[in-house]
Amino acid sequence: MQTKVVKFGGSSLADANQFKKVADIILSENSRRYVVPSAPGKRFSDDIKVTDMLYACYDSAVKGADFSEQFKAIMDRYNSIISDLGLDFSLDKDFEIIRACFIGRAGRDYAASRGEYLNGKILAKYLGFTFVDAAEVIFFNDNGTLDSDKTNRVLSEKLSYIEKAVIPGFYGSMPNDTIKTFSRGGSDITGSIVAAAVKADLYENWTDVSGFLLCDPRIVENPQPIVTITYKELRELSYMGATVLHEDAIFPVRKVGIPINIKNTNRPEDAGTLIVENASSQSEYTITGIAGKKGFATVNIEKDMMNSELGFGRRVLEAFEKQGVSFEHMPSGIDAMSVIVNKSELEAHEQEVLASLYRNTKPDHIEIDRDLALLAIVGRGMKSQRGTAARIFAALAHAHVNVKMIDQGSSELNIIVGISEADFKTATKAIYDIFVTEKL
Ligand code: ASP
Repeated sequence: MQTKVVKFGGSSLADANQFKKVADIILSENSRRYVVPSAPGKRFSDDIKVTDMLYACYDSAVKGADFSEQFKAIMDRYNSIISDLGLDFSLDKDFEIIRACFIGRAGRDYAASRGEYLNGKILAKYLGFTFVDAAEVIFFNDNGTLDSDKTNRVLSEKLSYIEKAVIPGFYGSMPNDTIKTFSRGGSDITGSIVAAAVKADLYENWTDVSGFLLCDPRIVENPQPIVTITYKELRELSYMGATVLHEDAIFPVRKVGIPINIKNTNRPEDAGTLIVENASSQSEYTITGIAGKKGFATVNIEKDMMNSELGFGRRVLEAFEKQGVSFEHMPSGIDAMSVIVNKSELEAHEQEVLASLYRNTKPDHIEIDRDLALLAIVGRGMKSQRGTAARIFAALAHAHVNVKMIDQGSSELNIIVGISEADFKTATKAIYDIFVTEKL
């Protein structure tokens, strides 16, 4: 029998109605054996996630303020799920323990983790699955990193005896038995760890979108979905801000070759996006996705004969490194070098960076361009397809977009272009149209 690990995000478990959809999905396939829930998320756009309510409530408790109203609002969220599902079940004892631990200052991580803990208890009851507290199976080292050996050993041993279980996401325990959480959105990581431990055939990550889209839907109306994407392509797109999945969720499953399928709880019939190590087929459109970001700046350093000066590049980068400004790209000419950095990072240390550039490199001229957006056009198909770059630049020229910078890694997985921020939407749309719209 196949084994799938299924993780459901906060919006998928925000109220009883969403719980019902989740249960239908899980129970429709016997292979969906291990379930990792988030805490209840937003039910409508200006609703508050239970995790945020817990943080705020705990902060009040630590200040010694009266937190009973805030605590009641949290209990109400869970109690209404329980009653709307018609469950004969109560979390009152847990609420009492949690309240006491808030007064006893059990920690912000402990507080936030209760969101997933309580939701996991309800879901286990509703499904008739065994509840496994993540504190007993997910372990951190003293320095806060995951103790993956111990976690993997204990988790796989424990789950080998349990046919179907609910393991709450987001937290685990420290060597001194206190609770620690991953960073925000960390239930994705728990799902990935569980999938690796039980050697699942597939890790399904259920959310409120049908996977990744070829580009930002705020720029192109109804963009095509990405059906299959490789881990490498995903890295390139997420770096530019196309996020659906927590970055650290990739490593545990990737290491053991388990694919991830991003699915939509509200449209389970949609295929979603499958994330794999190696895709045998090229995507339908040559490119897999387009993503970009505004807010970059270019520092241009010019100096005659710089190419013959040994160590010039190192001295340039040192000026940024010493101020903690990381560089994104570094295209260079014969007598000029451009360093592309995050604009706000640069502006926080601009004078110091410039002073050490002048001191270290004795340039003829330095110029800063503060109007740069980067656009990454990503696709494993570009390697085998002649003329991709030509099509990109023709499309941009046609749309009257001036290209300020071009960067293509030797892996030929992506082409990055630098453009003016005002051209960001036009450029994205032009590239989407040439590869996708014209093919439809
Ligand atoms: N509930 C946590 C958060 O809001 C973790 C998660 O949902 O993955 O960040």
